[in-house]
Amino acid sequence: MSERPSAADSARLLRQRVEMGGGEVFLDGMTRAEAMAMTASARRGTPPPEKVPAATAPAPRSPAASPAVRSRPVPATPKGPSGGAAAAAPADAWALPDNYAELREIALSCTRCRLAEGRTQVVFSDGPSDARLMVVGEAPGANEDETGLPFVGAAGKYLDLLLATVGLSRAESVYIANVLKCRPPANRNPLPNEIEACSPLLRKQIELVKPEALLAVGSFSGQLLTGREKVALGELRGEVHTYHGVPLIVTYHPAALLRNPKWTRAFWDDLQLLRGVIDGA
Ligand code: SF4
Repeated sequence: MSERPSAADSARLLRQRVEMGGGEVFLDGMTRAEAMAMTASARRGTPPPEKVPAATAPAPRSPAASPAVRSRPVPATPKGPSGGAAAAAPADAWALPDNYAELREIALSCTRCRLAEGRTQVVFSDGPSDARLMVVGEAPGANEDETGLPFVGAAGKYLDLLLATVGLSRAESVYIANVLKCRPPANRNPLPNEIEACSPLLRKQIELVKPEALLAVGSFSGQLLTGREKVALGELRGEVHTYHGVPLIVTYHPAALLRNPKWTRAFWDDLQLLRGVIDGA
């Protein structure tokens, strides 16, 4: 039986390929074989062999956070990470339709915040609208702004591979959207007023897609969907929250994993939580 590559080695290898412009290679033969090997390992329940060194580990979890699946109810109107009532009115006063196609049309022509001025196009979503899993990221980057699709750059390709390790095919069973639908200039962080303006679109997307599970990648989506503003991502990950009754797992953004392969182990642990939630749905 072949041994599963270490999390750090996998992340380093994949990052090197992406940096070498190996996008096609990344998605073809060898990478898929690696994904299958990782999937087999995941199904055996074998964690990556190495532990994260204490000196470089992600922020420690709260004492309440354990590998066990637990639920943390969230407020009916989660707050944004700004400290303000981002999810409350007047954003909630935006009357959005219950029809998915109409919602998309509204988003594609939205000028509700100043990000409309600099975008090439609105990045609404990717994936089937009846997907079992919904991944929520932060905001479009340059590639996404250009193509109109979320997670199409290096981080997106890495996300595809990571999801494959727990048997989730992006094309078949994953719907992806961002907190913001338009690219912030120079890829800066979303501003509180932008999140406040745009988050009703995301909430309506979740309501209409009705996923069996939510995976928030990165602190902005994690804080928004848990309603736990200013709580570090390291405190949010590693447990199962709920968003209006939908199981929610918060973890690192794949772009952060490309920069910090040492976090791959923690991400892998979060994927096991996710797989358990979906298997139990
Ligand atoms: S970021 Fe959201 S609220 Fe702002 S213009 Fe784009 S779609 Fe509208």
